[in-house]
Amino acid sequence: QRKNTPRSHISGTTGTDIEIGESVRVCVRSRPLNEKEISSGDTSCVSVVNPQTLQLNLKSGSKNFRFHQVMGENYTQGQMFSDSGVHILLDSVLDGYSGCVFAYGQTGSGKTYTMAGVEENLGKQDYVSNETDGIIPRSISYMWQNMTRRKEQYYVKAAFMEIYNEQLRDLLNPSSGVLHLRWNIKSGFYVENMLIVDCTNIDDLIMVLHEGIRNRKTSSHELNKDSSRSHSLLLIHTISEEKNEDGHSFKKYGKISFVDLAGSERLKESKSQGVMIKETGNINKSLFMLGKVISALGDKKKVKPHIPYRDSKLTKLLMDSLGGTSKALMIANISPASAYVEETMSTLNYATRAMNIKNKPVIQVD
Ligand code: ADP
Repeated sequence: QRKNTPRSHISGTTGTDIEIGESVRVCVRSRPLNEKEISSGDTSCVSVVNPQTLQLNLKSGSKNFRFHQVMGENYTQGQMFSDSGVHILLDSVLDGYSGCVFAYGQTGSGKTYTMAGVEENLGKQDYVSNETDGIIPRSISYMWQNMTRRKEQYYVKAAFMEIYNEQLRDLLNPSSGVLHLRWNIKSGFYVENMLIVDCTNIDDLIMVLHEGIRNRKTSSHELNKDSSRSHSLLLIHTISEEKNEDGHSFKKYGKISFVDLAGSERLKESKSQGVMIKETGNINKSLFMLGKVISALGDKKKVKPHIPYRDSKLTKLLMDSLGGTSKALMIANISPASAYVEETMSTLNYATRAMNIKNKPVIQVD
């Protein structure tokens, strides 16, 4: 596993500086109330106190939560992209590091909207004019613009898969059935027989995104599964060649994973861990284990707990992108509707645990 060199000080676009040692940037985004909620007389239980503070209004009183960035219901996709700070991650990917962006939240809270946008509009125009485009098409465009500005030559490859019921499937090649995760010392965990597509321009990458989203829908229909229970992972690899002072060339391998997580609605915090793991079972084992990994990484105790990366497919795949010296961006999506206040509270608590993750140069893995 490569090590990222910690940066001394990186500025976000919002004026919130990311200090040394923060490896996860946590943003919370609330969608607007939808028509159904408005017509049923539901009201918002969420207010943005300032760009870093969100207030949740409960019957028993209100509670404030602090994050790196709070995005209220009027946030456009463009503002979301700029204030998410994802460009920091994308720049470091082009420098040869790994990173991950993931959307967490209950079904219907806006994860897919935030990650991909509105599918029908994807790639129709340049993202600057296509307001509905989410963080993935905007990131693709940002990366491409910056690759062409840099002096080195870049090669880009992409893969798109999904985890459902702890089974991995290739969203670019659905006929390949269930895929297996393997491990070797050189590359760590990798997916055997996964289709990896060479992308020579932006359109190739947008096509990968389209194809994956389309196959995710088709396969959920054909296999009669609930797509809100699956995680989708788009992996983009960048390979560039550079010469050092002696004239020797060396390759830099960057990797970014965009993860649209399964709906978090069953991960009720009030339940005991035993009940929770049983209830979530295989369907959400990966989501549950991601929470455990995040909690363990954020543990403030001196003696660091064991980080259970190897206990689910998702955490194995994200092992080199979470903790250690990699950078991650979590977008916690919430609905403002009072009817979902419990789910929202649970999402905000999960996001708060991710806020505690600090950069750890040495991580003990099983
Ligand atoms: P999830 O992926 O979490 O299940 P979706 O992204 O599918 O949720 O969002 C549910 C619905 O809400 C979609 O119709 C989506 O277009 C809409 N939506 C989500 N977030 C926003 C937003 N910030 N602004 C406007 N509409 C949104």
